Amino acid sequence: MRLNLAKQFTLRESVYFEGVGLHSGGRAEVTLHPAPEATGIVFMKAMGRGMERFRATLDRVVDTQLATTVGNRQFRVATVEHLLSAIVGMGIDNVFVEISGEEIPVLDGSAKPFVEGIRSAGLLEQQSPRSWIKIKESVSVNDYGRRAVLLPSDEFEVSCSIYFDHRTIQDQFFHNSISARVYETEIAPSRTFGFLSEVNRLRSIGLARGGSLENAVVIGEFGVLNREGLRFEDEFVRHKVLDAIGDFSLLGYPILGQLVIDRSGHSLHHRLMMALWQSPSCWEITTEIPTSISPLYSEDSRFVSTHA
Ligand SMILES: [Zn+2]
Repeated sequence: MRLNLAKQFTLRESVYFEGVGLHSGGRAEVTLHPAPEATGIVFMKAMGRGMERFRATLDRVVDTQLATTVGNRQFRVATVEHLLSAIVGMGIDNVFVEISGEEIPVLDGSAKPFVEGIRSAGLLEQQSPRSWIKIKESVSVNDYGRRAVLLPSDEFEVSCSIYFDHRTIQDQFFHNSISARVYETEIAPSRTFGFLSEVNRLRSIGLARGGSLENAVVIGEFGVLNREGLRFEDEFVRHKVLDAIGDFSLLGYPILGQLVIDRSGHSLHHRLMMALWQSPSCWEITTEIPTSISPLYSEDSRFVSTHA
């Protein structure tokens, strides 16, 4: 079964996740619900007698310090990037994200539990055509040698390089075309990471309170402290790709283009998206996709169903 990449997708049924918030340390819950065509990714929260909601787009970003926080006047939600990454990485266009607290649960520090939940709920193909943002000319931003660039390409590709002055990481580089299969197997399992030397400083400013060896790779002076070790030799750079896919979901459209990021982070990603919006000659919204594009979806019919 070859699936129609030109159509929009939602979940087949709702799926619930609970855990702790990485930064608040408090209990965090989130439920993903199926949503109609052209909904996009919409966060919602029961408040007073009603349900408040907003669409997760660039203009809803309120903080990019270490994690991405989105919000409106009624409520905000922190550490959204791993969940957003799993949603778009698995090819979902339309979903309601219902939260109860102020942060998305960190779970194991990767997007793997979200991907497994999405897999168990299944995907549903919808009637409307999917719109893509097609990059026609390159757009780039810099920050003292750190760089983020979007370039034309016939598919969604990510190239990411990182450098940390620590013998456990040093230079790492990752490049791939991001199909759902590549996302699920090569990117989603990579966990967030931090340096032991940074943990106390982060806690003193109210961050990383929920962080532990259960939900992050922690790097000490002589190497990784987690007993189970790494999931990939280059898990660190893969996690940066995971974060970037989540951040760029805020454009509101899947990307036909190549994202190149060099020692980038949430705030530079945010600046690149702003620069892109301010350069309308460099992109267009299209429903036409090249036939050469690698399938975004698994061909597993138990996972994906279509309207009869
Ligand atoms: Zn992350």
